Amino acid sequence: MTSPPHVYPLRILALAVAWVLLSACAPPPEYHQTLYVFGTLVDVDILGQTPEQAAKAVGTVEADFQRMHRDWHAWKPGGELMELNRQFAAGGALSVSPFLMPLLEQAQVLYLDSEGLFNPAIGGLVGLWGFHNDEPPAGPPPPASAIQALVQARPGMDDLEIGGNLVRSRNPAVQMDFGGFAKGYALSRAIERLRSVGIDNAIVNAGGDLCVTGRHGERAWRIGIRHPQGKGVLASIDVDDGECVMTSGNYERYREYEDVRYAHILDPRTGQPVRHVASATVIHGDGGKADAAATALTVAGPADWERIATRMGLRYVMLVDEEGGVYMSPAMADRVRFLEQRPQVIKIGQAPDPDISTAGPKK
Ligand code: ADP
Ligand code: MG
Repeated sequence: MTSPPHVYPLRILALAVAWVLLSACAPPPEYHQTLYVFGTLVDVDILGQTPEQAAKAVGTVEADFQRMHRDWHAWKPGGELMELNRQFAAGGALSVSPFLMPLLEQAQVLYLDSEGLFNPAIGGLVGLWGFHNDEPPAGPPPPASAIQALVQARPGMDDLEIGGNLVRSRNPAVQMDFGGFAKGYALSRAIERLRSVGIDNAIVNAGGDLCVTGRHGERAWRIGIRHPQGKGVLASIDVDDGECVMTSGNYERYREYEDVRYAHILDPRTGQPVRHVASATVIHGDGGKADAAATALTVAGPADWERIATRMGLRYVMLVDEEGGVYMSPAMADRVRFLEQRPQVIKIGQAPDPDISTAGPKK
């Protein structure tokens, strides 16, 4: 059966409307690439660009990452931070490049704001515990006397003297280690780089530490926060334009001896690995700050996290303790969606006052 001729234009119109509606709903083309940098996989997703444009931008980001990996590395020779450490130990000074200097300056601020709980000057301790290796060593912890000696030497970011581009340390025990900070800083830089070439919708995700720009089509970028006890995904969060989500976990890197796990996050006051917190998650527009804050809050633990979060001016904070208890700031509690069953929320802390002033660390 054929339709009368006057129906054709209507049909064509209906098809055209359907096509317009469908293309309005279809997500924009998505480009995905996985990079291997910083000893980890980094997933980059970019929306709304041709594959050629996206691949070119990712190539630039990858080159940036490789330079960061070399020059900010705490223990693989050949980079600028290693050279700075060599000068510090010898009592000398180094003319520091504009590539490294902003990290040193921001790390000083974050050290002060976290009361010294984020302390990237404790590279000596991190190395002593065996974490300056791709694989942490087996065997007993280092001798208590060696730990004590390094704690008493009190390396801190306030030991650094920065004059122009010349940097020296008043304290030869200072050894820089940006393991708690550089990844977040790098991810923020990657997003900046993508935006500078006109990419407005993208996510850069290094194993759960991530920064985003824009949105994923009609909705926000939605991500999962891993369960610190390795039980899949704990919760999901919609990440807004320009935000980073950073998680520090005791579960990722540790050494084990006689059934005790020694985590790679150390309390600078005692030189001992942190025990009470399994993970700390921070959302912030500045990836470096979020990363450092997550490390500091892991050290602060259930007793002190609210004070440190307040001093650091953080709004979105979540801690999970070793029993699975969850501690959150009120703003975080409003955003986070627990996936299976809602875990026991032990305490939702006070809303931090972002304008609170900062003071020096307790020494
Ligand atoms: P993750 O690697 O799980 O994201 P972090 O961001 O907390 O965890 O980084 C941990 C790394 O930071 C350690 O491997 C070490 O290099 C360094 N580090 C350990 N303790 C501290 C601390 N108190 N302050 C600053 N950096 C630290
Ligand atoms: Mg960190």
